Amino acid sequence: MPSTPIDRSAAWPYDDGEPGAFTYSRFSSPTIAEAEARLGALDGGEALLFASGSAATTSVILALLAPGQTIALAEGAYYGTGAIFDELGRWGIEKVEFDQTGPPPDGADLVWLEAPSNPFLTIPDFEAAAAHPARVVCDSTAATPINVRPLEHGCDIVLHSATKYLAGHDDALVGALVCRRAEDAARLLEFRSRTGPVPAADTAWLVLRGLETLEVRLARQTASAQYIAERLGRHPAVAVVRYPGFGGLLSFDVADADAASRVETSTALIANMTSLGGVTSRIEARARWEGERVPPGLLRLSVGLEDAHALWSDLERALGLA
Ligand code: PLP
Repeated sequence: MPSTPIDRSAAWPYDDGEPGAFTYSRFSSPTIAEAEARLGALDGGEALLFASGSAATTSVILALLAPGQTIALAEGAYYGTGAIFDELGRWGIEKVEFDQTGPPPDGADLVWLEAPSNPFLTIPDFEAAAAHPARVVCDSTAATPINVRPLEHGCDIVLHSATKYLAGHDDALVGALVCRRAEDAARLLEFRSRTGPVPAADTAWLVLRGLETLEVRLARQTASAQYIAERLGRHPAVAVVRYPGFGGLLSFDVADADAASRVETSTALIANMTSLGGVTSRIEARARWEGERVPPGLLRLSVGLEDAHALWSDLERALGLA
């Protein structure tokens, strides 16, 4: 298949005085529309790209909730999502946390799941969430539509930090929402068009390129992560391993913060840096970002495309210093 052209136009001519499919790039553009069509087909809904995963999160709340309403947020979900909700507290949005392996609390106006949660790797009880009367959003960044399709489990909106697995190469900051209902997609498009958190055409093109290899990347990352999770589980320096059985993201605990620091700074093949879902592996102690919310010895590992045995040798050598 030929590569999709990148259309960087900021505006397009009217057709006989009438606006055509594309008029001004804050509303949409051909490259963005193509990436949205491809992602929508993967998740089974109507997709919209945003300037980042966080811009997508903020847009859901500002477009679909009103002051005085409450979000039920999965405990242990990406810490930045809770930080956005706290920020929006000044505009009258309340946040309550709940254990997503059970039912969401009564009275919530929006339920926010994460499948699997980052970095605790819990999987939501989709059935219990779908039975709640509120709209259900599921952040499926770490699963991708290859492993979990939340709309098929009764969720209303899927969120991706496409910065991670979907774009997949650590060179694009981008987010996406995929909606089950056309009304939600229309409202979010209206909000995005008015307020402007839309990515550049080049970024949308990087999503298109990433989607071409998503399935094979995920297959290899899953096989390597399964292998590493199994070996971590048998290592004497490792107290807990969290891995849902699929995908390339896992976390594990060593004795304390000092041990975690020794491990993360002693790997050679695995980079000591943040983010996840790219082709290169990385490890980091999450307490530097999340404080007491995570155990002090918790290390998050995003498994890339390197040879699994080489990754384990690297990690095993670093764990020897834990
Ligand atoms: N959701 C999850 C699960 C994430 O891991 C992240 C970023 O790390 C985000 C959302 C936010 O995405 P972005 O960094 O693209 O704004």
